[in-house]
This record gives sequence, structure tokens and C-alpha cells, in this order.
Amino acid sequence: MTAHTPDTDSAAPTSEPTRAFESLAVHTGIPRAGGVGLGVPVHHSVAFQFESLEHGADVFATNDEYSYARLQSPTVEALETRLAALEGATSALAVSSGQAATTTAILSVCRAGDHVVATSSLFGGTSGLLRNVLPNFGITATIVDNDPEAVRGALRPETRLVWAETIGNPAADVADIPALALVAHAHGALLGVDNTWGGVGYLCRPLALGADIVTHSLTKWAAGQGAALAGAVLVGDRHDLSANPIFASGEPSLLETRGAGALSWRQRWLGAHQIGMTLGPQAAHLVVLGLETLALRLRQSCDNALALAEWLSSQPGVLSVNYPGLPDSPWFPLARRVLTHGSGAVLTFEVEDPARVLSRLELVRIAPSLGDTRTMVIHPWTTTHGRLPEEQRAASGVTPRLLRLSVGVEDAGDLRRDLAHALA
Ligand SMILES: *Cc1c(COP(=O)(O)O)cnc(C)c1O
Repeated sequence: MTAHTPDTDSAAPTSEPTRAFESLAVHTGIPRAGGVGLGVPVHHSVAFQFESLEHGADVFATNDEYSYARLQSPTVEALETRLAALEGATSALAVSSGQAATTTAILSVCRAGDHVVATSSLFGGTSGLLRNVLPNFGITATIVDNDPEAVRGALRPETRLVWAETIGNPAADVADIPALALVAHAHGALLGVDNTWGGVGYLCRPLALGADIVTHSLTKWAAGQGAALAGAVLVGDRHDLSANPIFASGEPSLLETRGAGALSWRQRWLGAHQIGMTLGPQAAHLVVLGLETLALRLRQSCDNALALAEWLSSQPGVLSVNYPGLPDSPWFPLARRVLTHGSGAVLTFEVEDPARVLSRLELVRIAPSLGDTRTMVIHPWTTTHGRLPEEQRAASGVTPRLLRLSVGVEDAGDLRRDLAHALA
């Protein structure tokens, strides 16, 4: 048990991994021992046995061992250990979806009366949570432009959390994580970053750049084959919760009883134990397998995305191309500072007649997800962003002519020929 108990959390190794991403991705979570299977097994048991009354009482008091799979179980724990190693996190909690991860992260540091400041090109589910769901429970949010000064201007005494996405969807804007961290920390708030597009640390490691909480939809690039829904919340070792009454008030306070592991303890208690957004072992296993090839897939997808973005920019039928890896993107300089190994696997472009382009594609699939091995295209105006008021769609960079492409690992030439045929 590593990610589970506060005591081991605070003693766990932190930040910089000693080995490279590719090595950690295939070895972490597999014990080195004779006769033990070389892989992460799928462990389906819900209940774990106690030897005696005393043993049961001790496990319930300390949570040092498995007891019931809603709290922790072996396959999910192996995934969590691997995720923490890849992101350079102190602890990780795997949950049932990216949406569950965002919910857990926000509720872990906010309660009724508290306030969140988020930057604008938010994933639709996050926007819905902040605008429509959490206000019913007394947690309010202000959504501002993706600019640290705009964030600073929206802070209130009761702001506990600043929220950003590594790369926004579909505007492909990049978060200035170091600057946002300074703004949040000067106010006694934490910075949370949805790093779904950052590839579990391969393209971006927000904790090393100053963020306190990182979340993922593991459904996307991490699982990578479009076969599992999963999410995760990770925390680093430098967060300061002394200004947050959830942790600092009470006799004794959570900080006094749980120490440096207070935040990860509260996340597991809330997300898994109390609300029950626990991940199952089968999906956890699919994500474990996905992580093993994540770097390979992302390298190919990012190379393909850059090649396609450059090629689309020169096509007469294409009105605009947006990709942070293009030198003429306003986000290019920031992308060079916060991203490594590539500028992401998603690009957007505008065409005169998006319906015609979609109807002529033969290889690229029309589908509403991201991060699969297969290239997928979507028309955000009528789908992912279709229910938003027009001014919110405009703020997210969504226009009626826009198409979003999540670039897979196919041959770049085949993708270019498919798009050329569709644009002709
Ligand atoms: C998909 C996505 C989510 C939500 O993840 P689910 O696994 O679908 O719940 C959250 N944030 C971002 C950036 C996403 O792309």
C-alpha cells in the first residue's frame, strides 16, 4: 500500500523520477521477484480477508492494508503507483472517469462558501460542473481569460483554487503554469491543472512547474485505444494548505492529524470512500497497458499533428489552422516553455463547408473523443460545444466552420491523402 495511507504518502519519494518516462511506464507497479507474473494482474476481489477480530480492527483503524475495493484494491493501486511515478507526484488516486477526477479535485479543497477561478477554454464537463452543479452546493466560480493577470483580478478572499488546462480545447491555448502558480500561491490558494492533454507527464509535468494538483482523463491518451473510461487526481509535495479552513481549522485540524498527506487522504476519502467514484480493476488494467506505449504513441501522434498542421496551412480550401506547435501560433512561445517532446496531438482548422469535408473522409473517423490510436474528427459547434450559448462558444474559439482533429498513430502520408481528398 503506497498511495493509500497518509503515513506512507508523506514518506514516499517525490518530484523528479530517477529513470526516464519510457522506463518507468513499463516497469513501475510490477514487483521484482521470482515466480511472480511479469505484468500487473487483474484482481477482482471486492473484500479482503482478516485473520482475526484484532486484524480487522487494525486494518480499519490504519487503512494500511486492503479491506474493501471501494477504498483500494491491488490493480488500481498498481496503476496509481505508475501514474505517480510518471507525473512526479507524491500520491495518486485513480477514479472512474476524468469527470470524477475533476469533481474530486475541486471538492477536496472547496466547501460551501468557497470560490474557484478557472481559465476559459475549459473542457465542457468542467465548465458544466463549475457553472451548473457546484453553485447548488455553495461553491462558486469565476471564469476568466487564459491570462495570469485576469486570474489575479478575479481572486476573492474565499478563493481556494485556481484551475487551468495544460492545453485548452479546442482553442489549443497553453496555460502559463509557472505564472498561474505564483498568482495562486501568493493568495494562499492552490493551482489545479487538468493535464489530460499533457500525456501523464510526457508532454507536460505541471507539478514540476508549480501546480499543486493534477487531474487526468485517462480515457484519452493514457488508455489510448478508446476502450476504457478512467481518471486520476495527483498531488505533489509542496502544496501549502495553511490558509484553507478545511485543513487548517478544527481541534485538531486535518493538517495536524494527517500531516503532509492531508490532501491525498481527503481526496481518497471523498472521491472513492464517500462518493464512490472508484475505478474498477478491468479498466485500471487497460490503462496500465496503455501507459506502457504512451510515449511511443504520443511521439507519433505529435509528429503527425505537426506535419498535418503545416500541410493544412498551405491548403487553399483551409481558412485557418490552430496548433500550438506552429511558429505563427500566439501560443508557440509558451508551448516551448511548458511542453516537452511535442505540442500535443490535437489541431483545429476552419473550412467553408465542414459537412462536405466530413462526408468525404474515408480513413479519419467522425467521433467525439480524443487520444485514440485512430485519428478522429469532430464538428464542435454542433456537438461538444453545441449546448453552450454563442458567446461562450466564441470564447472557446468554436465557430461554425471549425473542425477538431485528434491525430492518431496512422501513417502521416495516409492521413494527408485522406484530408486532401476530403478538401478537394
Ligand atoms: C475528456 C476530458 C475530460 C473528462 O474525462 P472523461 O474521462 O470523459 O470523464 C476532462 N478533461 C479533459 C481535458 C478532457 O479531454
